[in-house]
Amino acid sequence: MTANKATVLVVEDEHAQREILLYNLKAEGFFVLSAADGDEALLHLEENTPDLILLDWMLPKVSGIEICRRVKKSKALQTIPVIMLSARCEEFDRVRGLETGADDYVVKPYSVVELMARVRGLLRRTRASVCSKQLTFEDIVLDSETYRVTRDGLEVKLGPTEFRLLSNFMEKPLRVWSREQLLDRIWGQNIYVDTRTVDVHIGRLRKALCKHGGNDPIRTVRSAGYSLG
Ligand code: CA
Repeated sequence: MTANKATVLVVEDEHAQREILLYNLKAEGFFVLSAADGDEALLHLEENTPDLILLDWMLPKVSGIEICRRVKKSKALQTIPVIMLSARCEEFDRVRGLETGADDYVVKPYSVVELMARVRGLLRRTRASVCSKQLTFEDIVLDSETYRVTRDGLEVKLGPTEFRLLSNFMEKPLRVWSREQLLDRIWGQNIYVDTRTVDVHIGRLRKALCKHGGNDPIRTVRSAGYSLG
């Protein structure tokens, strides 16, 4: 698949909305897959690996939240960026949407022009992180081949868990991760580890990153989790 012919899966039960999205995505040069409900979306995902999913929250049968959760739990699908579309605009819903693993959250009614810009932006970001072995955030550089981390040019010594945590954060700066999500991604779902373990390792990571000075780059998001930046 060529770089500018990415495939976008549109999951939207409202016919007119779906048609508008499909029309605009095709006009942008994307391949499109279309699903009118959650079951249809899951069927597509069994057979295809789209490059991005536009996912309506309120769907018949299986909800958008549930689909997003399944995508982000699946080894084969979890790297696919998901933009959640929702008529719900409460802060709580936004946090819940992002906690499920959605990469972006857009409130209806949205501007199609703005949504297309977000689709392009998200695809650019995910492509860049797939192609490059080096991740950069502000003055922090992480090299996943040599397992080296530097901050402002100085070496940062990290244990393997802290390295994996930082690498996870740097793949998606600003994204908020709940402790449960970090447990799943860093320790794996089959191992029993208390969520407080996450706090301990975040503490070690912070200490290591700030050893030579500089601001604490990891933000604690109250009742939600942690994010880089
Ligand atoms: Ca809907």
